[in-house]
Amino acid sequence: MKIVCIGRNYLAHVRELDNDLPSEPMFFMKPETALLPDGDPFVYPDFSHEIHYETELVLRIGKTGRNIAENEASGYYDTITVGIDFTARDLQGQCKARGFPWEKAKAFDGSAVVGKFQEIKNSNNQKDIAFGMKLNGEWKQQGHSRDMIFSFNKIVSCISRFVTLKEGDYVFTGTPQGVGPVKSGDVLELFLEKETVCRFGVK
Ligand code: MG
Repeated sequence: MKIVCIGRNYLAHVRELDNDLPSEPMFFMKPETALLPDGDPFVYPDFSHEIHYETELVLRIGKTGRNIAENEASGYYDTITVGIDFTARDLQGQCKARGFPWEKAKAFDGSAVVGKFQEIKNSNNQKDIAFGMKLNGEWKQQGHSRDMIFSFNKIVSCISRFVTLKEGDYVFTGTPQGVGPVKSGDVLELFLEKETVCRFGVK
C-alpha cells in the first residue's frame, strides 16, 4: 500500500507557512514503511530538530481505480479517520530552498500516524466533518472539512489521473492551521468529531 498526501488544502495553513495558493491539488507520497505501527510511540528522529505535527482527515481507498471522474470518486473511498503527517520542518525548508523533493522531510519511518477508521455514513455530510488534536490535553489544531480548498472527490480524482489508487491506500487530505513542534514526552490525542480515534506518545 501507499500513502498519498495533499499539501496546502486549507487557506489559513497556506498563509501560516507563507506558501502560494495552489490552483489544483498538490500531492506527495509516503511509503508503507512510514506508517507508525498501532500502539507504538513516535520516536523522535536524530536527523531533525524541528518535527512538526500536521493533523489531517485521512481517507482509506476502498476500490482500486485510475482516471476516476470527480462525480464518481465517492465510490472509491469508504472509511475515514484522523492522522498525523509528521514533517521535519527544518529539512523541508532546506529541500524547498534547493528545489529538491521532500521525501527526507516527509517520508521517514513513523511519519504517518492513522487513527481507527470509521465508516462514512452519509456522503452528503462530507463537507461537515470536524476533527482535531490535543497535545498534552490542550487543543492545538481544530479543523473542519468545509474549509478544505479541494474536496475529497476532487482530491481522489486528481491523484488518480497520475497514480492508480489501490484498495487499502491512504489519502491524507491536508492540515488546517496551527501546525507546531513536538518534543519527547508529549502525548497526542486525535479526534474525529468528538470521538478519540488515536492516542500516542513521543519518545
Ligand atoms: Mg500535511
